[in-house]
Amino acid sequence: MSSLRFKVVDEAFNRKAITVNIPEVRPEVYYGKYVFNRQKMFEYLPKNTYEALVNAIDNKEPLPLAVADSVASGMMRWAIDNGARHYTHWFHPLTDGTAEKHDAFIQHDGKGGVIEEFNGKLLVQQEPDASSFPNGGIRNTFEARGYSAWDISSPAFILDKTLCIPTIFISYTGESLDYKTPLLRALNAVDRAATKVARYFDPEVHHVLGYLGWEQEYFLVDEALYSARPDLMLTGRTLMGHESAKNQQLEDHYFGAIPSRVEAFMLDLEIECHKLGIPAKTRHNEVAPNQFELAPIFEETNLANDHNLLLMSVMSEVARRHNFRVLFHEKPFSGINGSGKHNNWSLGTDRGKLLFAPGRTSDDNLQFLAFVANVLAAVHNYNGLLKASIMSATNAHRLGANEAPPAIISIFLGSQLTDILDKIEGMDAEQLINLSAKEGMRLNLTQIPEIMLDATDRNRTSPFAFTGNRFEFRAVGSSANCASAMIALNAAMASQLQEFAQKVDARVAAGEPLKRAILDETKALITAHRAICFNGNGYSDEWKEEAARRGLDCETSAPKIFDAYLSEKVVDMFGRTGVFSPVELAARNEVKWEMYTKKIQIEARVLGDLAINHVLPVATRYQSVLLDNLYKIKTLFSAEECEKISAQDKDAIVRMSAHMAVIREEVQQMVDARKAANCIACEREKALAYHDNVLPHMETIRYHIDKLELHVDDEMWPLPKYRELLFIR
Ligand code: ADP
Ligand code: MG
Repeated sequence: MSSLRFKVVDEAFNRKAITVNIPEVRPEVYYGKYVFNRQKMFEYLPKNTYEALVNAIDNKEPLPLAVADSVASGMMRWAIDNGARHYTHWFHPLTDGTAEKHDAFIQHDGKGGVIEEFNGKLLVQQEPDASSFPNGGIRNTFEARGYSAWDISSPAFILDKTLCIPTIFISYTGESLDYKTPLLRALNAVDRAATKVARYFDPEVHHVLGYLGWEQEYFLVDEALYSARPDLMLTGRTLMGHESAKNQQLEDHYFGAIPSRVEAFMLDLEIECHKLGIPAKTRHNEVAPNQFELAPIFEETNLANDHNLLLMSVMSEVARRHNFRVLFHEKPFSGINGSGKHNNWSLGTDRGKLLFAPGRTSDDNLQFLAFVANVLAAVHNYNGLLKASIMSATNAHRLGANEAPPAIISIFLGSQLTDILDKIEGMDAEQLINLSAKEGMRLNLTQIPEIMLDATDRNRTSPFAFTGNRFEFRAVGSSANCASAMIALNAAMASQLQEFAQKVDARVAAGEPLKRAILDETKALITAHRAICFNGNGYSDEWKEEAARRGLDCETSAPKIFDAYLSEKVVDMFGRTGVFSPVELAARNEVKWEMYTKKIQIEARVLGDLAINHVLPVATRYQSVLLDNLYKIKTLFSAEECEKISAQDKDAIVRMSAHMAVIREEVQQMVDARKAANCIACEREKALAYHDNVLPHMETIRYHIDKLELHVDDEMWPLPKYRELLFIR
């Protein structure tokens, strides 16, 4: 009956690993082959152009157009030498993923032929006809045009024989329409604010860089099975499917041997990454079957984020070469772990010092504690915003489930750091004075480094954890653009550090010694913001109650969580740091609500279709097989015997009927709820209607379909089952 399912399962299970073309040279030779990095710039640009470009990059200065012309022609020569025929501005609109519009390197030569051409104007700014990207009304209200402009801080690269130039994407009136613009603004803000504070300790500091080390989790599914699941194809997750008898209970997949087909894929991917200058380093199995992770060496945030987006597209492409599909969805399968993208975040000076790392001297440690205290304050003050920054229709499935951080933001510090903060908090003024006098730096503060090294007691239930020299923001979703989280976090930190420096300066102006002033303000922050620290089990119900008592944001409805972006405090903070104007914030929230609605709308349609056109007909067919059987029994056996023999079948028929009736009824109600929601004009209200009125039907429908899957003859069931999807051979 279900020959298609058996055919694809057969195809998938019989596949062999694909042989990977391993370059004959060592990784250091091909690393960055397709990146217009400084070495290529040096080789392809005239000396003065090279110097002007490097100066503009390092000192964040604008590039004169004449120089851009010269860069463009060198860049084009390099690209053509490496097989490229086209170029594109590469940007990050407010959708998932990236956008490109390719143009060939040609120009009329005036004699009926063409010449290869690429100039500074084309490199620096373009006007892609990109009017269909989400913009939250900005481009309707103001000006229809959108511009992409070259981000010189992230190097151009070649992907699929196309020169890709990283760009920002803004409206004619200067509002950002992308993720990169506000990310660069937030990084600038945190650079300025953190530099001021870092200079209390080292006057030679001129810049503070934000670092990001992401860890990308993903699932692989065989292509044949994927193609037989319309829900995976259209929504990125399974909307139905009964749990496999075996899934992750035995924890035998985690860090286990990597299946050979997957290993070939990973090797191929790693080589591609290295050619593109993505420093992919770690790869391993994750907790759930078919779930894996890739992590690079951390980099400056803007570059790291470009690399993450690039990785996601390269990964999808390489996977197809190996007959896989990658699932970046946060919760592709119910009943097993979902995927996240931990964002390891830190700040470091241009003098090579990491500001969240304890040091060797008491000064180093005071600086460390001051920065940590500011993190507590920033995360506490903006915990609702941070949650909003990682929330989406897809990540909502993961947060709050018993496997991922709860929908409450708190900080895990570990026991050692907690002890130190306790001690500082408990000190009176005199003890603090002693502590701030250099020779009196007791408290074992100078011994922090030794302690911290093995303080990697990991609390996997925390959404935001201190891990030795950085904080790990774990609530970020696997399909998300990291920029969203990094914008909120770095902007909040910038605003907090601005305030901190003002207070310290005021104390110093009033005659207090600098280090003493820093310690006083640090202590004040620790005392005021301890409520954000939680070392216990984040999955527990007690924590939910406790967090509410502490006044942390406990909202669980995604459309309402987005409101945090529009609170007075947040609008003010983004204004002060120059990251978002109120118009941009309002527009972006429109987009968030709209995207939320659309995702659930699509899922609801697919589910309705699968329920009515795939599942119910098959269930009816199986039911009629059972009914036939009953008739046959009746003709052969006495009434009494019949009663005995057919009791089970009758029972099955009745149960199936009950499930089928609920499915039919619920699908109708879901369609009605969707129609009602679609009539709402306000995006926020519409998203809420989808959350409150459509989603619950989807859950019920799924429950009953999964029950039917247990009744219906395996041969008839049309869709590949979890046990088939989840175990690569
Ligand atoms: P785990 O899974 O144990 O948390 P991984 O090795 O998978 O650790 O990933 C850790 C990530 O953190 C890597 O991308 C690594 O480069 C990054 N990282 C390490 N130190 C820092 C730092 N100071 N700032 C930002 N990221 C960092
Ligand atoms: Mg990891």
